[in-house]
Amino acid sequence: RSFDEAKLHPTILENIQRMGYQEPTPIQRNAIPILMKNYDLLACAQTGSGKTAAFLLPVLSKILTKMQKNPPVANLPGARRTKASPLALIISPTRELAIQIFDETRRFTYKSPIRPAVIYGGADLRRQKDQLARGCDILIATPGRLVDAMERGAIALDKVRYLVLDEADRILDLGFEPTIRQILLSSDLTRDESLHTMMFSATFPTEIQVLARDFMNDYCRLRI
Ligand code: AMP
Repeated sequence: RSFDEAKLHPTILENIQRMGYQEPTPIQRNAIPILMKNYDLLACAQTGSGKTAAFLLPVLSKILTKMQKNPPVANLPGARRTKASPLALIISPTRELAIQIFDETRRFTYKSPIRPAVIYGGADLRRQKDQLARGCDILIATPGRLVDAMERGAIALDKVRYLVLDEADRILDLGFEPTIRQILLSSDLTRDESLHTMMFSATFPTEIQVLARDFMNDYCRLRI
């Protein structure tokens, strides 16, 4: 099976080709069709399995299609939205992983109007806020810095339609469970059927299963 059969957006397909990906990895072959059908997903996937593209390709494809149907309205002078309102939010346990996901997102969004941004702790928040204010359709963030930016009014979650927890077991190992719950329960995040949630994890401890049960509806489980 090839990427062509997955009904991904043509711009995304071009970028896959340009990156030299010949065929999908097993996690991609299984996860992409599930996510293209908008099901929530709990996937067991190790680093190196191609899990990043497994969630990025369908999410970016859907965002692009949506943007072409309803082009984003240009900001009027003086009416600039100061808060970033991403359509997709990807939460990463560490800064290193966040930067990796951001780099891959940039390559997959080449020649597209999608604007990716990344924020993480240990770096200047003011500069990250400036980057967010220039526009952000897909945000990659570490949990602590995300809450920080939300509390400072730099980010609104009301437009988020795709939510990814990457390396969910590491997020919990690092003690971020209360932070994650705070984010998932934040008042501006829509939690109806228009929110699609994905969790990727190398292991499935009880805490992950409880988190999945608490925040996902009718999700598919994938074990490769
Ligand atoms: P990940 O598991 O997402 O960290 O990906 C591991 C590495 O595999 C990254 O360097 C990707 O760029 C690469 N990769 C992901 N999917 C494919 C694919 N279908 N074909 C070739 N390389 C890939």
